[in-house]
Amino acid sequence: MPVERTLAIIKPDAVRRNLTGEILSRIHQAGLQIVAIKSLRLSRAEAEGFYAVHRERPFFNDLTEFMSSGKVVVMVLEGENAILRWRELMGATDPAQAAPGTIRREFGTSIQNNCTHGSDAPETAAFEVSYFFAAYEL
Ligand code: GDP
Repeated sequence: MPVERTLAIIKPDAVRRNLTGEILSRIHQAGLQIVAIKSLRLSRAEAEGFYAVHRERPFFNDLTEFMSSGKVVVMVLEGENAILRWRELMGATDPAQAAPGTIRREFGTSIQNNCTHGSDAPETAAFEVSYFFAAYEL
């Protein structure tokens, strides 16, 4: 199993509802290491840059408005197979379709307000980690 790094975000809906501690606890319990972590608020332009691959999707405006609506917690997680393991902890994009026990199933309230983000492949992880963290922070 390769040791990977992935970019995780606790989205504004989860931060507002004080779910940060619960989500960090699940990451620790899964044995993933938090290499770097910070709290920040994205500008609209920064959210648009992060989600640039989705700019043609019908939900792009709503998504970037939501992602810039309040504080987020961004972090780099590390471990064997970390990209897939974090996505399994999160569950499917739509909370209604997510497996029981996953973060999105337990705490997500809509397909947009689904509490967390996780990179979906090594290439996107590299882009997303570098979007938020400088080398000296890692
Ligand atoms: P992810 O990799 O599971 O986060 O899913 P995607 O890359 O497909 O979508 C990125 C994010 O856009 C999701 O996590 C949701 O917050 C949001 N999103 C996805 N599909 C929809 C949709 O149909 N409507 C809205 N409003 N937001 C969506």
